[in-house]
Amino acid sequence: MEELSARQLRDRIAAHEISSVEATEAVFERIDRYEPVVGAYINTFEERALAKAAEVDKRIAAGEQVGELAGVPVAVKDNMCTTFGATTCASKILENFHSPYNAAVVEKLLGADAVIVGKTNLDEFAMGSSTENSGLKQTVNPWDTSRVPGGSSGGSTAAVAAGMCYAALGSDTGGSIRQPASLCGVVGLKPTYGRVSRYGLVAYGSSLDQIGPVTRTVADAALLMNVIAGHDERDSTSVDEREAPVCDYLEKLDEPVSGLKIGVVPALNAGADEQVQKAVADALEVYKGLGAEVVEIEIPHFDYAIAAYYMVATAEASSNLARYDGVHYGHRTKEASDYVEVYSKSRAEAFGKEVKRRIMLGTYALSSGYYDAYYLKALKVRNLIRGDFTKAFEKCNCVMMPISPTTAFKIGEKVDDPLTMYLSDIYTIAANLAGVPGISIPCGFDGDNLPIGLQIIAPVFDEQKLLRIAHMFEKETDWHIKRPTISG
Ligand code: GLN
Repeated sequence: MEELSARQLRDRIAAHEISSVEATEAVFERIDRYEPVVGAYINTFEERALAKAAEVDKRIAAGEQVGELAGVPVAVKDNMCTTFGATTCASKILENFHSPYNAAVVEKLLGADAVIVGKTNLDEFAMGSSTENSGLKQTVNPWDTSRVPGGSSGGSTAAVAAGMCYAALGSDTGGSIRQPASLCGVVGLKPTYGRVSRYGLVAYGSSLDQIGPVTRTVADAALLMNVIAGHDERDSTSVDEREAPVCDYLEKLDEPVSGLKIGVVPALNAGADEQVQKAVADALEVYKGLGAEVVEIEIPHFDYAIAAYYMVATAEASSNLARYDGVHYGHRTKEASDYVEVYSKSRAEAFGKEVKRRIMLGTYALSSGYYDAYYLKALKVRNLIRGDFTKAFEKCNCVMMPISPTTAFKIGEKVDDPLTMYLSDIYTIAANLAGVPGISIPCGFDGDNLPIGLQIIAPVFDEQKLLRIAHMFEKETDWHIKRPTISG
């Protein structure tokens, strides 16, 4: 049962071969065993999950119609609102915040009869690349517990890698689904901006944030997309389905993309560690063996992506995080003697170092006198990068490159050096700036048995093709089947 994908488990449950209660109990046994070492969860809901599982089993036994994820244990990153448990964003400022409503994606998971087992750890407010910025706990990489799981959705990817759920949701503002998926050896998809509702996702950089699946297989990512994709009138940036129809992402999954043209930028790939480069080159050979053609393309403004991202994202964050004022939400200082002190001391006491750094940077970038020089310029660069992708896709169906320049690094290795940490986002950020979808799939291991991910980027709203391309590789290889042996 432990080896099954979410889709296989769902089918077995529907066929009365396994009960959801059995599957959920087995997940909680693994949580009991591995969670003290891995630390993927901020909160788990054993009683609630088992009650939901029992309800699903009963409905299946009675021959009732059930949802697409009926009985499957899943996890949700703790920056998505739930009416059960707290929604902390791994921040002391929201440690005791209980949401009065569910995020749209949580409603959809519940509507699909998934069993939500817990809320996963993240970098505080999703700001980071290693989950070390969590204000609440440390998550480690199941493949090597002295290393980071990546971030910011490191709790979700570690939970899936360790078998402590069958699938999870993450959020990706600058790589936070794809990069930790790569470092933990699982599949992570960032959909097109606007494909999935952000209603109830705690905002970090609103023009970049997007929710997506973290899974063991590409088919599971397609299955989760079938559940979460679509327009939501409560999120005005979610796209009208008349403009870009949502499709059945599983329907054509097994049809290989014929005449596939893969775009690569050789100089970009050369920036990664040698073992990462080799794994990506080997993956391209697999595609060539399947009849794909590799064409050289250019993304001329790629080098400016990190600089532009850290202006746009921090500017938006400085505005989004203004709501944590000690009055509306979360932590309130006990030391204040007037209104201004309530605001400043509540924030000073409860925000972590990285969040403060970003609020200051973003406020500065937006201040009069600097707005034109920094924020506006970053927006122009963003436009150029978007144009680069549009042009590139005239020559190819997808672009392939590494996800992360290195495999999982040691805990503590980069945390005191924010610039080095920011540089680890080099390969993921451009897709967010351009709004295009990207996926990370397992494509090898380095000499230390640490997973390596391949990134595939497609044109906007082309998730169906993106998943088909990813699935072609998965069928030819067995990297995604490997599981970590957790010790510690
Ligand atoms: N690592 C990037 C950052 O630190 C991206 C984070 C994200 O996608 N949420 O901002």
